[in-house]
Amino acid sequence: MAAPQWPKKCPNCNRPIRKQSWNKLDLKGTMPMTRGRDSEKIQLRNCSCGSTLAVPESATKKSDPPSSMK
Ligand SMILES: [Zn+2]
Repeated sequence: MAAPQWPKKCPNCNRPIRKQSWNKLDLKGTMPMTRGRDSEKIQLRNCSCGSTLAVPESATKKSDPPSSMK
């Protein structure tokens, strides 16, 4: 539903960050996020300006179909 859109904008330097560029940024770590019954990992990466940005891990992967039901 609320899928993050690329390119993201760094709130600090307003630099647009594409998905490709995101995966090249310095990974600071991940943290779990729970939304209702769904839990998801958030990736924390540093923008080149030094600001830490957070993007859900699912948004950083290849464009899989959003609902993968077995
Ligand atoms: Zn920045």
